[in-house]
Amino acid sequence: MKHSGLLLCSPGRGLGCVACCPPIRPAGYDHADHPGSLRRLLAENTRALREQGPPTKPITGYWCPGLGFLDPSGRQAGCLLHPALNQGQDLRGPTGFQEKCARESCPPARAFAALGAGERDALLDLCEGLESLAFGSPRLNPVMRLLAFGPEVAACVAWLGLRRREDLAAWPWLGETPPAWGWLLARRLEAWGEAALTQAGLAQRLATHAQALARRLGPEPPMEQGQPLHTLCGEWEARAWQHLSGRRRVRPADLARWREMV
Ligand code: SF4
Repeated sequence: MKHSGLLLCSPGRGLGCVACCPPIRPAGYDHADHPGSLRRLLAENTRALREQGPPTKPITGYWCPGLGFLDPSGRQAGCLLHPALNQGQDLRGPTGFQEKCARESCPPARAFAALGAGERDALLDLCEGLESLAFGSPRLNPVMRLLAFGPEVAACVAWLGLRRREDLAAWPWLGETPPAWGWLLARRLEAWGEAALTQAGLAQRLATHAQALARRLGPEPPMEQGQPLHTLCGEWEARAWQHLSGRRRVRPADLARWREMV
């Protein structure tokens, strides 16, 4: 978790995310599935830090004693050991996770950081009033699901000027489409227009296109050939090709051929 108004972890407006804290969780784990026990732990940590000072022992299990509430109402959770809250002093060392926490990032956070200020504002407007466990939950916060598709798709949605989070949550494609197809969706929107995002059949339309494209890419070669995808193109494009082709590497000439097909 990081602190800065530009970062999704702590974007201001009383919003905050602790979804990756601590950075040791089972796949698919969502804090929002355990609101009662976690809220109790957050309150206990906050009190313990105030009364006894920062923890001195390493984290054991899946829970970090440095997580607590940043506000008296108990809506905004965050890292109480972070240097931004301790006059520049980083108190995370004894947890054993300082380095991992400092470099932790997620696709929604990277997409958010790549947006313009107006686009970030438009998406945060849709998050208004969410407490931290809900804000960081892809299940409860459609903006988190949207950002996982990458900055291009998220920017298109921001420009649509939605006023209510419920309107975004009601779009079927947001739950039915693999986020890894975000780059491909952005390319299709160039032809279909941004209004396609609001149409009921978008998930099926994109799936038909993606499956046809995947067939044209051909079967996986017995041994991976070429260069790592992420060295030949950006994160979001690499992720789309990896998902569609099943390959992590590609020859530059093949990538050029794939791009022609889109
Ligand atoms: S899950 Fe992403 S947005 Fe949330 S605290 Fe971690 S890096 Fe930040």
